[in-house]
Amino acid sequence: MIYPSDIALAGGGLSAVGSPWNDASVCACCGKPIAAGDLAVPSPFGPTFTDDLSLAARSGVVCGACAVLLGAGALKLFQKAVVTRDGIFPLAKDAHRAWLFLTPPEPPFVAVVSTTMQQHLIWRTPVTVSKDLLIVRLGQRIMRIRRPVLLAAIEWCEQAGVAFQVAVAAQSAAQAASSAAEVPAGGKRPRKPTKAQQAAELAPPHPFVELDREASSLRHGVIRSDMEAVPEARPYLARLRALNPGELWALASLVKRNRPTPEQPPNIAGTQEEDDQ
Ligand SMILES: [Zn+2]
Repeated sequence: MIYPSDIALAGGGLSAVGSPWNDASVCACCGKPIAAGDLAVPSPFGPTFTDDLSLAARSGVVCGACAVLLGAGALKLFQKAVVTRDGIFPLAKDAHRAWLFLTPPEPPFVAVVSTTMQQHLIWRTPVTVSKDLLIVRLGQRIMRIRRPVLLAAIEWCEQAGVAFQVAVAAQSAAQAASSAAEVPAGGKRPRKPTKAQQAAELAPPHPFVELDREASSLRHGVIRSDMEAVPEARPYLARLRALNPGELWALASLVKRNRPTPEQPPNIAGTQEEDDQ
């Protein structure tokens, strides 16, 4: 079994801390077995620790890898990042998230996106072992992204948008034809385009009222009613409705009006300040 904290230490070029433990036990954070003699520290969690429900065990001992991640410097370093054994790559920008979603690095890796300051994320995040099933911890939630489905979903958004544009263009043409028939002298001003017509003239719009990068808005993932009214768009909308929360969240970084160009983030391993390790 691959443990997320071990990957984080390798990626960050960090070393486990603690002192040789007397008895065999299990890490309270990541659940990794601790053999007698392994580096470990007594569990530091007091009554103010808010992630108690996320603990893997109530063993009273934390492995040497998780002990590093509990430090303030490591907490800062691993807030929005994908961590491979080769480095730590930030995930704050959509261009960087697009890189992860579309062209992920070689697994295994651990991906986390904090939703508040200083969240404990790494040690309670399942390791991604396949490029086809990306796992990202978004704050308190675990997002699972079936990558082949996500790639298809980008296409479905596009197709629904195109169907919408075609329908609106046909409607405009019909209106223009009927106006022309009504005014043979051609002296009348053409009818103003409707809001939908104006919107449709831009790039194909995505079919959602809103896509929220934190997946917390009540409007997140709701399908637009004007799209729903177009019969040719409905097969795509039906598929988009079946996306899981992770895939819907990933789309928020991918199908914006100004689509991000995937960009590999810089490796920030080794840039952290020395702290309380
Ligand atoms: Zn651990």
